[in-house]
Amino acid sequence: MKVYIKGVEDERFHRPIRLISNLFFEETELSFQKEGTELEAVFQIEDNGHSVFIYGQVTDESGKVCKAEREKDLTGFTDEKERFKQIKNTLSFVYLTVLQEYTGIVQKWGILTGIRPTKLYHKKRQEGLTEEEIFKMFKEEYLIHDEKIRLMQQIVNRQLKAVPDLYSLGDEVSIYIGIPFCPTKCAYCTFPAYAINGRQGSVDSFLGGLHYEIGEIGRWLKDNNIKITTVYYGGGTPTSITAEEMDMLYEQMIESFPHLEHIREITVEAGRPDTITPEKLDVLNKYKIDRISINPQSYIQETLKAIGRHHTVEETIEKYHLARKMGMNNINMDLIIGLPGEGVAEFDYTLAETEKLMPESLTVHTLSFKRASEMTRNKQKYKVASREEITEMMDNAVQWTSSHGYTPYYLYRQKNILGNLENVGYALEGQDSIYNIMIMEEQQSIIGLGCGAASKFIDPKTGKIMHFANPKDPKSYNDGFAEYTEKKIEILNEMYSRS
Ligand code: SF4
Repeated sequence: MKVYIKGVEDERFHRPIRLISNLFFEETELSFQKEGTELEAVFQIEDNGHSVFIYGQVTDESGKVCKAEREKDLTGFTDEKERFKQIKNTLSFVYLTVLQEYTGIVQKWGILTGIRPTKLYHKKRQEGLTEEEIFKMFKEEYLIHDEKIRLMQQIVNRQLKAVPDLYSLGDEVSIYIGIPFCPTKCAYCTFPAYAINGRQGSVDSFLGGLHYEIGEIGRWLKDNNIKITTVYYGGGTPTSITAEEMDMLYEQMIESFPHLEHIREITVEAGRPDTITPEKLDVLNKYKIDRISINPQSYIQETLKAIGRHHTVEETIEKYHLARKMGMNNINMDLIIGLPGEGVAEFDYTLAETEKLMPESLTVHTLSFKRASEMTRNKQKYKVASREEITEMMDNAVQWTSSHGYTPYYLYRQKNILGNLENVGYALEGQDSIYNIMIMEEQQSIIGLGCGAASKFIDPKTGKIMHFANPKDPKSYNDGFAEYTEKKIEILNEMYSRS
């Protein structure tokens, strides 16, 4: 959709306008000339120093017109940055209202387009606002619907129960370790994941680099007496390497990391059931790693085939029972709403199958069309459910989890997600993943080691965030791991050594 924008000269407003447009139309292109556009959006912004008045109107080729306006008092906002934010939010408010009327589509998340709504909730809470005040603000200023605000409320309260010291964990860090291999590549995948067969040379060199990184970062943490809150092995599929390789890797971890008794949780994604063997489960037990993820995504065989997951539904169930029998007492399962060819009936079937297993936690994703995936490149080949059906499936997931003892404990949104919905992690009482809470709420640094591992350094004093990414492909990683480790240590020195 090409939209003609008039009356907004300040370029800083173009991004929020684009983000709001994208909630309604696929891939919006903003144009500042009328030629070749399908929709005209005209704004009038009047800032008199004390308040801002914004009028917005959209008109299409058929002559249909929708309009809205809003005035916002700015007297309480002396800080320039905060003042600008208020004007930006007012503009988003007006544009969203106009587009909701024009399209008939209701956006339950209102003008919030960021991926971490609960982080904003925590921020308001830390600023001293009460639940009632946050509710009112989210509803009136952000146009968020009651059900989504209540969901955030529930999640935030649950997180603070699972991690009561959440706001004071900035002096500790969590560790993410990325293993970039999988048995085969799934169609919707944009993770660093390379089919492992025939790549042993590359796996060997990669593991060499990873051992080095774990050793060096571990040494730095020991030298600076910094504790680790959680460790998470992701990828790829960390169980796609052999049992011996896993054994050596965990050995390196326990030799390198400080204060092992202090680590609250170690998770290993065993996402693809075809990688799970009794030998690997033995290794996990040896290192007392008991939180794993086995991801069915769907219990419909046809779907698994269509998305390129070369394992059977039976294998998921069989490996789940095997893991359970061998002592894994905190198993997470991922499901995806809106996989190609699936509607409400298929998703309900998946929920019914989940009921037979009752994993400790369940993450319900909504399919998103990420730019780099095979599925997005060949979109016409993959038929997905309508916005209404997707919403119904999500509602069924909410009901099903609540009636089976699960509570939502983390949430994030993505771009291009079907129906502008969200991904929600649910857990049985006391089984919430602390790592997932840490990554979503950004209260401490997460140091990424291995391929495609993104580090997020959060200054414990200022809260300022700095990103640093390791390369995604094993070849570049193998060539440069020492340099990447050194750069991370430089950042850590800079952030943590100041008194
Ligand atoms: S198992 Fe996960 S990481 Fe591996 S290809 Fe599939 S979606 Fe990607």
